[in-house]
Amino acid sequence: MRVKFYGTRGSIPVCAPEFQEFGGNTTCVLIEGPKGTVICDAGTGIRDLGKELAGDPRVGIDRPCFLAFSHFHWDHIQGLPFFAPAYDARRNLIITAIGRERYGKDIKSIFATQMQSDYFPVPLDGMGAKIDFLKSKEDFLNVGKASANVFKHRHPGDAYSYRFKGADGKVVVFCTDIEHGDKIDEGIVALAAGADLLIHEGQYTPQELPRFKGWGHSSWEQAVAVAERAEVNRLVITHHDPDHDDAFLRKVEKKCQARFPQAVLAREKMEIEL
Ligand SMILES: [Zn+2]
Ligand SMILES: [Zn+2]
Repeated sequence: MRVKFYGTRGSIPVCAPEFQEFGGNTTCVLIEGPKGTVICDAGTGIRDLGKELAGDPRVGIDRPCFLAFSHFHWDHIQGLPFFAPAYDARRNLIITAIGRERYGKDIKSIFATQMQSDYFPVPLDGMGAKIDFLKSKEDFLNVGKASANVFKHRHPGDAYSYRFKGADGKVVVFCTDIEHGDKIDEGIVALAAGADLLIHEGQYTPQELPRFKGWGHSSWEQAVAVAERAEVNRLVITHHDPDHDDAFLRKVEKKCQARFPQAVLAREKMEIEL
């Protein structure tokens, strides 16, 4: 399984020179399994991913391409209108909304709305690729030997964490935009148990976190606590605050590694082979 980060920033893209090491694009992560491709969230990072996938004749043609969303805040959907494979009529993209409580939602209208003519010149139905909306009445979806489980966590308007298991048995857990509150969410610890890789947000420092109560995010210390308790092999912390520049994040990374040596902060275009 291959995991690659195309967007690592939270809330809004940043492009100043002091943000280049960790990256300025908002959330987008590629997970490539032996039998299919999963894209987690469509922040502005999905544009660069789309340029790479456009040259790959397998994605959405010979093998399925799923887009899985944690939730639909701007920084997680804004890049979709600039995703090149969505303009290729040969391709079939599957937007998945797993979860009992999401089953009734009109997911298509969320994306159609952001592409209304007041906001964007091309409507969703005019993009070209075939886009299916695949829902699950349960909190899991099995596709051959691969599977995805979700867990609803605390965030304004709700958000979902995913546990992906590839056909090769490798497990990646994607958990972003989560506010644990005073205690670590036990549901996330259970979801991440024994994962080969945990991707967990850590927008704030422990000192900043109390000031942002109700904003829906975690500290890096909470990300580390989940990794420790779930006994994961590796931890990548992402969704960096747009006010945290490279020098700041390098210091944060050292603190994370002092507690959990198998931790890194996500950098744009960073790749992990599992
Ligand atoms: Zn976000
Ligand atoms: Zn959010």
